[in-house]
Amino acid sequence: MNFGKGKIWFNGEFVDWKDAKIHVLSHVVHYGSSVFEGIRCYKNKKGSAIFRLEDHVKRLFESAKIYRMEIPYSEDEICDAIIETVKINNLEECYIRPIAFRGYGELGVNPQNCPVEVAIAAWEWGTYLGEEAIKNGVDVCVSSWRRMAPNTLPNIAKAGGNYLNSQLVKMEAIANNYDEGIILDYQGFVSEGSGENIFIVKDGILYTPPVHSSILIGITRDTVMKLAEDIGIEVREENIPREMLYIADEIFLTGTAAEITPIRSVDGITIGNGKRGPITKKLQKEFFKVINAEVEDKYGWLRYI
Ligand code: PMP
Repeated sequence: MNFGKGKIWFNGEFVDWKDAKIHVLSHVVHYGSSVFEGIRCYKNKKGSAIFRLEDHVKRLFESAKIYRMEIPYSEDEICDAIIETVKINNLEECYIRPIAFRGYGELGVNPQNCPVEVAIAAWEWGTYLGEEAIKNGVDVCVSSWRRMAPNTLPNIAKAGGNYLNSQLVKMEAIANNYDEGIILDYQGFVSEGSGENIFIVKDGILYTPPVHSSILIGITRDTVMKLAEDIGIEVREENIPREMLYIADEIFLTGTAAEITPIRSVDGITIGNGKRGPITKKLQKEFFKVINAEVEDKYGWLRYI
């Protein structure tokens, strides 16, 4: 584990991990004004590959655009800097965290005269919810918190401030002995987990909440939708009422961190037979076939470094 060691790319230069610091009066500290990404680099038989690098960087820039934040680098420059960060730290398989934030200048809600700063860190990382979870599934609850309504905070932006909502959800779930919380949207439909998108399987069809149900448009969500269609599983983006969770045949979470994690119970109600379902297993297999370079990378998802 190299968390806490190595180099961090900070505003165009590599600095020692301990020196990647900001001022306490930086705008981001007070007002949550950051946008970021979580990206994985996988090692397979062909080398080390960053998964969907360009898509993550595009989303970073779109998140910044929503917040009128001008990143003082191009998307290509950030892609290159991410690759360099992995290389300089001699990492073969890791989690990568690029972040753009409003820095130190004046202090007020309006971020005038606060420069936009960018940092990229990378460190070794295993599965988010545990190896066990990928195989046997996790126990989740429906959170008492709601996801941000569309006219409050933009869910499509992966912005630091959104994770205050996610923190409430995650802390409540853990305090009540669940692994994760599922959040309902402002209308009461299922939206997502605190850091994952959600899919349910019912009668052989895969359902996932549409973009208007206050979700982050996950890159793993998109990956799973494409892989499902490729193997002939119908995918529907539809509003999902809470009770559909209880009567689903299978449920799983998707995310860069969570990959494809089965859910075995919701609010103490067993899902299917309480084990990873066959469609979940099939999709995990397809997903890892791509990542392990066991099949042709037909969508160009792997960027070898
Ligand atoms: N929703 C939220 C709230 C998240 O934080 C994440 C993780 N980035 C996701 C969904 C999944 O997105 P992705 O597959 O792009 O990692």
